[in-house]
Amino acid sequence: MLVELKNHLAEGCPTVEDFFKSEGLVYHFAPIENHPVYVVVSYITDTQIAYLQTLNTVVKVTQIATSYQLASRKWKTSSTVIKTGSLEIGGKYPNLIAGPCAVESEQQLYEIAHFLSKKGVKFLRGGAYKPRTSPYSFQGLKKSGLQLLRKVANEFDMQVVTEVLDYSLLDEVMQYADVLQVGTRNMHNYQFLKGLGKVDKPVLLKRGMSATIEEWLLAAEHILLGGNEKVILCERGIRTFETATRNTLDLSAVALVKELSHLPVIVDPSQGTGLAKLIAPMSIAAIAAGADGLMIETHNDPDNALSDGHQSLNFNQFEELLHSLRKISLLDNRPFDFDLQAVNLRPN
Ligand code: PEP
Ligand code: MN
Repeated sequence: MLVELKNHLAEGCPTVEDFFKSEGLVYHFAPIENHPVYVVVSYITDTQIAYLQTLNTVVKVTQIATSYQLASRKWKTSSTVIKTGSLEIGGKYPNLIAGPCAVESEQQLYEIAHFLSKKGVKFLRGGAYKPRTSPYSFQGLKKSGLQLLRKVANEFDMQVVTEVLDYSLLDEVMQYADVLQVGTRNMHNYQFLKGLGKVDKPVLLKRGMSATIEEWLLAAEHILLGGNEKVILCERGIRTFETATRNTLDLSAVALVKELSHLPVIVDPSQGTGLAKLIAPMSIAAIAAGADGLMIETHNDPDNALSDGHQSLNFNQFEELLHSLRKISLLDNRPFDFDLQAVNLRPN
């Protein structure tokens, strides 16, 4: 159950807490900006609810049957729109986040960002600290990769989306990134998620590769409970028995999570399929399923990429994708966060 307090009670409300204590109710306080809220995890009676509703510090009491509470749309019926810089994620227009799997060099990043920004893309992704399955694979340029991301993104007026591999790197990544990516391998790292609940930046939370939808929403709940409401969910495929694709992109999860939660949902068809040729059809399907945006690995020379080249689009393929997205966005009257008609696309 959620007990929402008036805006100014960012530190909580002693009257409400005294009541919880006297009734032996177990509760947690989430200092969410503009709507601080208590999550009560004990069973609560109708009389106790009725009393809470009489308090003038309480705005609303909501009973929610699911294990996740703050992530539920039962509590917050309007979709969460996350602001970063002058941009919005989860708003009216789907977003495109694109860039290489890993930052490899200044020239590589510059060429990619230059191309993407000409196409109107406003979010530049790129890994500086890479979580690689093999310790012998390229691990990323680390701090210098972060510095390059910031420098190049500033040059093209783009926002930086990059992964924080570990809590110990949070302060460093915070200095350079606009959106903090939590990788699939970290979705279950609850201590880390709690730490992200304390920061004032959007967190793009990838679904664990073997996580259920409930586990994914509970991972988001760890961040929300810390007071950070800027959580973006990212479906990136799950492990199944199928071997023809790297992962199985679960688009049913996208449609369902949009219903279950108020949080924005982004789809990453690059990790989701592992195959460049499937990115365009899966992107279209993702938008049709209600996704708030896409994250697409894009490279100036995928054949020679140091990481995930096989699932990265080259520039021609990226233009083709824009062309297809433009067609569906016109059909759906859901233009992307940039005006696809204004950018230099081939005519229909
Ligand atoms: C990535 O985006 O390059 C990445 C490593 O993602 P994931 O954590 O989904 O595998
Ligand atoms: Mn990758």
